[in-house]
Amino acid sequence: MSEVGFNFENSYTSLPERFYSKTEPNPVSDPALRVFNEELAEQLGFNTDELIKDSNVDILSGNTIPDNGLSIAQAYAGHQFGNFTMLGDGRAILLGEHVTPTGEKFDIQLKGSGITPYSRGGDGRATLGPMLREYIISEAMDALRIPTSRSLAVVTTGEEVMRETALPGAILTRIASSHIRFGTFQYAAAFGEEGDVKELADYTIKRHYPELAENDKPYLALLQEVVKRQGTLIAQWQLVGFIHGVMNTDNMTVSGETIDYGPCAFMDEYDPATVFSSIDRQGRYAYGNQPNITGWNLARFAETLLPLLDQDEDKAVELAQDAIAQFPEHFHQHWLQGMRAKLGIFNQETEDGDLIKELLDLMQQYEADFTNTFKALTFDEMNSMVMFGTEDFQQWKEKWKNRLERQEESMSLSIELMQNNNPAVIPRNHRVEEAIDAAVGNNDFSVLTDLLNVLLRPFDHSKDQREYASLPPKTQRPQQTFCGT
Ligand code: AMP
Ligand code: MG
Ligand code: MG
Repeated sequence: MSEVGFNFENSYTSLPERFYSKTEPNPVSDPALRVFNEELAEQLGFNTDELIKDSNVDILSGNTIPDNGLSIAQAYAGHQFGNFTMLGDGRAILLGEHVTPTGEKFDIQLKGSGITPYSRGGDGRATLGPMLREYIISEAMDALRIPTSRSLAVVTTGEEVMRETALPGAILTRIASSHIRFGTFQYAAAFGEEGDVKELADYTIKRHYPELAENDKPYLALLQEVVKRQGTLIAQWQLVGFIHGVMNTDNMTVSGETIDYGPCAFMDEYDPATVFSSIDRQGRYAYGNQPNITGWNLARFAETLLPLLDQDEDKAVELAQDAIAQFPEHFHQHWLQGMRAKLGIFNQETEDGDLIKELLDLMQQYEADFTNTFKALTFDEMNSMVMFGTEDFQQWKEKWKNRLERQEESMSLSIELMQNNNPAVIPRNHRVEEAIDAAVGNNDFSVLTDLLNVLLRPFDHSKDQREYASLPPKTQRPQQTFCGT
């Protein structure tokens, strides 16, 4: 083990060479550590004092490869907005697979570390704004208890990166339980050799689903488990109003973690058609379409597994279709359970779905803020929004109160459940933009630090959190996010 505490137990290179390319980060001239996640570093078992020394910031900037590290770019393909293409890490390097003191394994990846064999004409670089954005939102998602890649550090490179204008270059250190994507399977199926998909599937089972190894039909079981994990994940997104923005198959993991924070954003007013990403002109990845598109993505994943599901082609297709058909149900059950919790409901009644739908319809009709509606219900502070003053809402509220009275649990337990399931704060676009602007424009990282301190306690409903919950008028909020690079 190194002084930093890296404990590399690399396994990805046990796959056929076609799955990756040995390549080194391109050195940068003047690396400086800008944001560092001490809590995460400690969870990973790193010696934080050691890691933030200049000699080790050289590792986080790609100037030095740690002993026993990997330094590979991973190959993958994917459907981008429906079109299949070869991709791969065009600006990222897997530094190594680190095993924590408690035995968990994580990829340590540098994002923005320079050109790789998969850069396809890109410069392999990242700029500071989008890397800070990924840092803020991924850490906020983790605090919301949503499976996600994590962010360990952001360094600036001391170099300018040309976009529409010259922008400061940066590198994010990303931590994920793996970077195996649906697109990794698609790559193996489309561009690999006979047996590659099986090797990747076996590797995936070993790494993420070891309990399936002894299963009679391990590959069908793998598909079923991925369907389940995605169902849970997308339900969690919907329950906090998270919009990923680029749900291409290369941005979906088999582990069921959220990855690749680009033009993602949180919904303010409830509307299923909400889209923030400037490149999503058709609304393919709109809030309300996220479950459907996940089903579509799962079908692309399942296709790669067909030869492993059954020797009989028709039978394999039938098995795959049955597995995929489970997705809407898994999603719906998790979503319904989560919505019940948001409304303080412990048990189940058949009409709960209708009660929830009626509220959502009212929220859409009266353009009610998603997060703040549930918070107002939690604290019985229903005065701040137009919707609350309407007769329609009063009728709904009566029904809801009656519903709560029909269950055994006391009102105070309901309130506790709601407090624990309705965040006080989410990363609002205008706050995220404000933090990034101060850091990039004025080299002032204090706004970001303050914001993070709030976002890391999303279920803390104390007064000081509340300032961050208020919303400026629509005209003063960013309505678009850009596929930041
Ligand atoms: P994303 O939209 O971030 O999921 O990226 C899609 C693909 O484009 C991935 O293969 C990335 O590695 C690649 N890519 C994004 N930005 C760059 C860049 N500046 N240079 C090279 N490749 C890039
Ligand atoms: Mg990607
Ligand atoms: Mg990306």
